[in-house]
Order: sequence, then structure tokens, then C-alpha cells
Amino acid sequence: MRNKIVAANWKMNLDYKDGINILKEVSDKLQFNTNTKVIIATSYIHLREAVSLNNLNSQINIAAQNCSAYDSGAYTSDISAKMINSCGVKYVILGHSECRDNFNEDNYLLMQKVSQALSNNLHVIFCCGETLLQRQKKIHFKYIEKQLEESLFHLSSDDISKIYIAYEPIWAIGTGVTASSSQAQEMHKYIRSLFSKKYGDTCSANISILYGGSCNSENASELFSQPDIDGGLIGGASLKADSFISIIKSF
Ligand code: PEP
Repeated sequence: MRNKIVAANWKMNLDYKDGINILKEVSDKLQFNTNTKVIIATSYIHLREAVSLNNLNSQINIAAQNCSAYDSGAYTSDISAKMINSCGVKYVILGHSECRDNFNEDNYLLMQKVSQALSNNLHVIFCCGETLLQRQKKIHFKYIEKQLEESLFHLSSDDISKIYIAYEPIWAIGTGVTASSSQAQEMHKYIRSLFSKKYGDTCSANISILYGGSCNSENASELFSQPDIDGGLIGGASLKADSFISIIKSF
């Protein structure tokens, strides 16, 4: 059974105090009955306290925004999957387009990061997405296929069950321009078909595929009502408790 998931990506926002306050506010206000899994990718400075917060709503899971491709060593500023796990964190975002761009993360490096994450018992939210130019040239399907194939398709079915996909068209991230529900559904269906081809129908029916890119409380319900959209990865609109909660309620 695939999960409905709403995940927050705080990026490099919220200082220590503001982050913990928002986390407490979301946790307190999330007092309704829903089977939606909530994941919050805080910045590294919040991780340990976030997982240790007293009375943190059990629906909320904490994630890191990235991890190293290596175990340990001379990688100043990097943080390993093992370190993240040692804080009690169980999720990590990998392959976000900002990290691909800013840190030159290619599909091969991401394959190594995925392996590090899985071998340290982290679930992965794996991001993929095309540029506007690639979409205009109609090579977006091939591009996404290559991202998935080169970073994920070496995994066993068992490991694939620990992966969530976030389809995030780069032209929609932080721009206020959302993919239409039909554009998003079309790509999600295609992504699911790739998993079906590689891993079979059960795996493809069970994998959660989230949409990300200017998703907010106004457009979330329509996006989430599409048959192959299992939730969202939310950037800007996750920085205020009320707007994030209203997205969680959009199913
Ligand atoms: C993101 O950073 O993953 C994202 C989807 O950002 P935004 O919602 O701000 O477009």
C-alpha cells in the first residue's frame, strides 16, 4: 500500500529558534485524524532536537536535506548518512535540483548517496525533474528516465520499497508557476510505468510519487486528487505552520 505523504523542505531558512517553534506549532495543530504521513526536512542544526521533542505528534517524521556519498573522512562540511541516523533521523532528501546544481551532484554521485542512505537505514525522498528547455524540446520524459535509471535502478525491490520519488519540474520550484494537474499527472503516470517495467506491477503500485514545485494551499487539492500523485514536497509554503497544515489537509 502506498502512503499519502506531505513533506516539507525548509531549505536554508529558519534559524534555530524559529525552526523549533514552527515544528512545535505544526505538531500541536495537527490534531486531526488523517492517514497522511508528514515528513519535515529541517536544516541540520534542528535535526537532533526535532526528533527528541517531547510530545512531537507521531504523524511527523524528521528528514535531513542531503547526505554525503561517503562513510567518513576528509570531507569538510559534509554530513554522513550514519551521522544522520545516529541522531534518530530516518529520512533524507536526495537529488534536489538545487543540490544537483549548486554542488554538481550527478546521477552517479546520487547513486552512491542513495546506497549510503539505505545502508544506514534511512528512507530516501529522491527528487527528479526537468528544466523548462528540456520540456520545450520534448525530451523531459527521457531525461527523467535517465535520472531514475542511473541513480536508482540498480537497487533491489526490497530497497526500492524504502524510496519515495518527488517529481519536481525545475521551472516550477520557487517560481510560483505550478505544473498543471494534467502535466504533473502525466509525468507521475510515466514514472510509475518505469517502475512497473523494471520492478513489476506490485512495486509500481506501492511506490509513493510526490509532486513538488510551487505547491500551496490553493493548488494542493487539485494536484493531490490525481490518481498517480501521492502527495507533495513543499518548499516555500512549508515555512508557515498554517499553510503547511492546510496542504496536509488537502487530501
Ligand atoms: C522544493 O524546494 O522542493 C520546492 C518544491 O520548493 P517550492 O515549493 O518553494 O517550489
